[in-house]
Amino acid sequence: MENRIYLDYNATAPNRPEAVKTIQEAMRAPHNASSVHNFGREGRQIVEHAREQIAALVRAPATQIIFNSGATEGNNTVLQHFKNERTLVSAIEHQAVLEAVPNLEQIPVTPEGIVNLDALEKLLETEKTGLISVMRVNNETGVIQPVQEAAALAHKHGALFHCDAVQAAGRIPINMAELGIDFLTLSSHKIGGPQGVGALALGLCGITPTLLHGGGQEKSARAGTENVAGIAGFGVAAEIALKELSAYQDKTGALQKHLEDALSIMEDIIIHGQNAPRAANTTLFSLPGASAETLLMALDLEGVAVSNGSACSSGKVEPSHVLKAMGASDEEATSALRISTGWNTDENDIDRFLEVWQNIYQRMKDKAKAHA
Ligand code: PLP
Repeated sequence: MENRIYLDYNATAPNRPEAVKTIQEAMRAPHNASSVHNFGREGRQIVEHAREQIAALVRAPATQIIFNSGATEGNNTVLQHFKNERTLVSAIEHQAVLEAVPNLEQIPVTPEGIVNLDALEKLLETEKTGLISVMRVNNETGVIQPVQEAAALAHKHGALFHCDAVQAAGRIPINMAELGIDFLTLSSHKIGGPQGVGALALGLCGITPTLLHGGGQEKSARAGTENVAGIAGFGVAAEIALKELSAYQDKTGALQKHLEDALSIMEDIIIHGQNAPRAANTTLFSLPGASAETLLMALDLEGVAVSNGSACSSGKVEPSHVLKAMGASDEEATSALRISTGWNTDENDIDRFLEVWQNIYQRMKDKAKAHA
């Protein structure tokens, strides 16, 4: 379809053309970064250059970056390392944290979707804790979490701190040391790099959680031949994300305002976490009474790609666990749509969404009136 509009950057971002070009170049030769011959040394150089680029994005030393297959692996690596210790995670984490190990204890969030620090402190006072995991930016609401405060509480009580920063990278500045993060996970495809590549950044606690053992790659922290081309693309995407961060924030902020000003005047629409600090690229809203799947398909038929705020498992649509944790009703949680913008979104995309949405919204309202 011509003129399709993509507003689902939090699911995956379109590849940056610069990343595609770099990947293609890296794939021209057989680069096993562990080989000692010239081809191998070239591969090593590509990987080490990308390591510097990723390190700069999170303001960590390059020696603390371990490449892996993405944030699901990164989160599992950290959580599984602590599987025999008490682990507290926020109730709004991604499934890649919530499902990583059994018996996690959840930290509640406020109705605005912010981790409740008082509740966290109380949990820490009851029993010794090994690890706390709180994401920096929630993937559904975009709400920024008080990671610095949560990490300080963790350390005060002798626990270490993990942060899933997948939706923060390239959206807001990240300074690992300043935030007090011991383990941080990143994913390439959320910032315009390829899928299936990510990194675990280590703080200075001296622990290196390791999931995959074998060939000794990544200083034995993550075995398996490095995805040299993918890592190269990830590096380029990270470098551009850092360079353009301020302009990106201004642009997505203006788009978010434009979108939310228009949504706010539509009766019954609820924008979630609107009064909390948020990444400017994300808007999650509900039209109670409607089904998110119906809305999503109606938008898709018009060539507009967004996401629903609910998860689909075993063919059954479950209400969003994030919205449920925020105290939303089932009606709100099953009617939520997420708009997420990024490097290639412009005002025309938002205008097109609003044009299509206005018609769908009106149809829903007329239908509801007819059934009343
Ligand atoms: N964590 C968050 C917050 C995410 O949004 C995602 C992707 O949806 C992941 C983890 C998983 O990342 P990956 O696709 O790299 O495994």
